[in-house]
Amino acid sequence: MINLKITALAATAALCAQAATAQERFITIGTGGQTGVYYVVGQSICRLVNRGTSEHNLKCTAPSTGGSIANINAIKAGDMDMGVAQSDWQYHAYNGSSEYEGDAFQDLRAVFSVHGEPFTVVARADSDITEFDDLFGKRVNVGNPGSGQRATMDVVLNAMGRSTEDFALASELKPAEQSAALGDNKVDAIIYTVGHPNGSIQEATSTVDARLVDVTGDAIDTLVEDNPFYAKATIPGGLYSGNDEATETFGVKATFVTSAEVPDDVVYTVVKAVFDNFDRFKRLHPAFGELAEEDMISAGLSAPLHPGAEQYYRERGWIE
Ligand code: GLU
Repeated sequence: MINLKITALAATAALCAQAATAQERFITIGTGGQTGVYYVVGQSICRLVNRGTSEHNLKCTAPSTGGSIANINAIKAGDMDMGVAQSDWQYHAYNGSSEYEGDAFQDLRAVFSVHGEPFTVVARADSDITEFDDLFGKRVNVGNPGSGQRATMDVVLNAMGRSTEDFALASELKPAEQSAALGDNKVDAIIYTVGHPNGSIQEATSTVDARLVDVTGDAIDTLVEDNPFYAKATIPGGLYSGNDEATETFGVKATFVTSAEVPDDVVYTVVKAVFDNFDRFKRLHPAFGELAEEDMISAGLSAPLHPGAEQYYRERGWIE
């Protein structure tokens, strides 16, 4: 969990006595692929936290990971302290449903939510894929194991009475690899649950003519009606080359989560670093531009708030 490490400092005259006894605490934030937005979320949070290391002795790192499911599982195992996860998987992990059936993570704690993540399907323009149903019989990258999109794709297929067997190929490449695979004609379409605009879809749509595909229909309507963590979503036109029209789909929220085992003062320090510097945070990625504090402390959160986060929100007068 928290790595407490006494930093052995050479007793040079330049160091004050206090620094010589300082205890540095290391925290790790699980993110996603380097071309996605989670990586920027984690890196941005760490950047803000690490600006204050001399005051609070907390040092933050945010390595690339497989995504939502990998992050939740790493937090549960105590291998990571915090992480980014889709709101659907936060819900299922806490409640022990879907992929987490019989395996509830009751110590999972919500910290805040971040940007919206539309379930995004991109197809080569030279394929005849114009709607989700056209994917069947085609070569589709369904997402790497451990990613949120891989798990949400299974939910979507299940809701349609389908499975990955209905594709000519169901590859499991990572986000950083799938755009190249689309360009190289190794797959006809790729799936990504991700904030927009992002580097990955930018790469996919600039290396080859490719279109964002609507994900609509009865099965999607039912998923959205039945589950509080899903909502209809629109990817605006004009974000990616060759895609001037808006794309209709459904989506989730990216959320920032931790464990009840992580000390209150650690979570408090991280939350304070973000919200005391909120304008700076919002400038670190175009997908953060629309973020508003009131939404972030409630939307998409189904696990209880961590007490360290609550303490900060109470101080700001955002909650009772
Ligand atoms: N939603 C994806 C996941 O849960 C990650 C998206 C991103 O990296 O921005 O794995």
